[in-house]
Amino acid sequence: MFQEFISSGMCEVCWFEEARYSCRLCSRRVCPRHYVVERGICAVCSINLCEICGRALAVDSCLLCGKLVCRQCSRELQPGIRVCGSCFSNIHEYVRRDSRLSYIERYLKKPPRSRA
Ligand SMILES: [Zn+2]
Ligand SMILES: [Zn+2]
Ligand SMILES: [Zn+2]
Ligand SMILES: [Zn+2]
Repeated sequence: MFQEFISSGMCEVCWFEEARYSCRLCSRRVCPRHYVVERGICAVCSINLCEICGRALAVDSCLLCGKLVCRQCSRELQPGIRVCGSCFSNIHEYVRRDSRLSYIERYLKKPPRSRA
C-alpha cells in the first residue's frame, strides 16, 4: 500500500501540485509531473543521473567525453579531474589526439602521491 504518499504535502520541485511519490535517490516528495516512474526518481535527479549506469547520482562529468558520471562509473585521476570508465581505458588514445591532455598521461605515469 502506498498510503503514505497520499498524505498532504506539496511537490518539492514545483511547490504547486500535491506530492504523490518520493524519489528513491534524494527522497524528495514530488508530484506525478516531476517524477520519472520507470526510474523511481524525481525530475531533479533525472537530469543529474549518471549517464553510464543510469542508477546513481552523478558526482562529476567526464573530463574527456563530458558524460555525467557517478562515483562507481568513473576514476578520479586527481582532485577535480574525473574520467568515465571507458575514457579511462582509452586515455592514451585521447592523449594522442589532443596534446593538451598530455598532463593526464604524465600523471598516470607518475602519480603525485609517490615521493620523489
Ligand atoms: Zn511538481
Ligand atoms: Zn530526486
Ligand atoms: Zn554510474
Ligand atoms: Zn568519458
